[in-house]
Amino acid sequence: MDQEKFSAKKSAKRSSAKTSEGPKRSKPGAGLEKNKLKAGLYLVATPIGNLADLSLRGLEILQNAEVIACEDTRVTGKMLSRHAIDTPMKAYHEHNAERARPGLLRIIEAGGVVALVSDAGTPSISDPGYRLVNDCIDQGLEITAAPGANAAITGLILSGLPTDRFLFAGFLPSKTSQRSKELAELAAVPATLIFYESAKRLAAALTDMVAELGDRSAAVTRELTKLHEEIRRGTLSELAQHYQDAGTPKGEIVIVVGPPLKKAALTEAELDELIRQKLPDKSVRDLAAELAQETGLPKRRIYARALELSQDIGE
Ligand code: SAM
Repeated sequence: MDQEKFSAKKSAKRSSAKTSEGPKRSKPGAGLEKNKLKAGLYLVATPIGNLADLSLRGLEILQNAEVIACEDTRVTGKMLSRHAIDTPMKAYHEHNAERARPGLLRIIEAGGVVALVSDAGTPSISDPGYRLVNDCIDQGLEITAAPGANAAITGLILSGLPTDRFLFAGFLPSKTSQRSKELAELAAVPATLIFYESAKRLAAALTDMVAELGDRSAAVTRELTKLHEEIRRGTLSELAQHYQDAGTPKGEIVIVVGPPLKKAALTEAELDELIRQKLPDKSVRDLAAELAQETGLPKRRIYARALELSQDIGE
């Protein structure tokens, strides 16, 4: 929206609700009434499936903003029409973020309200929202949030896995080699891990997780808050086997993986002892698979150590 149009729209919006004392402004975050929003960036969480999952405050902000910055105007348009909101939208996504940001900042600088939403859930989680937030911070502009739905947290609380400490790891790389490398970096994190994953890569990602994280408890949470919501719990190897057999599921997915198994806290000496016991009767590959299952330690790590020890023994 250019500056002139924005100013005209803004004054029309404000004048329609003027009282005898003129339009009132309050601090972001205070109880909001129509046309009382302070200029700034408002991060508004939208539903992740069920269109009723939008807070009353979020609705008010969306109704009263000058513009709603969104990833895909068709997706957000559908949600807005369900709530009879006709606030103008402006596309703000990975591919136009650099170009679109100055215009959004100008609206706020001129005293306007920009609501930022993502296609679904909490803006700035796995989308370019954080750069807009950073620019507002740099320019001393107001920012507040209307919190709400988020797929990672919804998946976590439904997984039944420990919630006291967790790490959100976002999307893993699509290539197996890079995915395995990232998983290996996460293997020692003493926390529940949360991943976003596409349905078509689910089985491959679970298989790599077994190898890199050990056979931990996990949950595949799918189509959260939607008609076909499903939570499948089991060990990583059970889940990998299920999706290898069942094929690619439909819908959107969050994978939640429990913290490292207690046995994974074995000392190097204890692990060496277990390997030495098995080395005479097994190949390094079979031994690594068996001990990964028994201890929950990553197969790759056991394999590497068993190879070293087998060479020592052979020398
Ligand atoms: N901003 C969103 C949030 O707060 O959750 C996440 C956006 S991210 C680009 C999209 C990913 O979130 C999907 O690929 C999927 O992994 C996950 N997701 C979104 N909605 C979901 C749902 N209803 N059920 C399961 N996972 C979902």
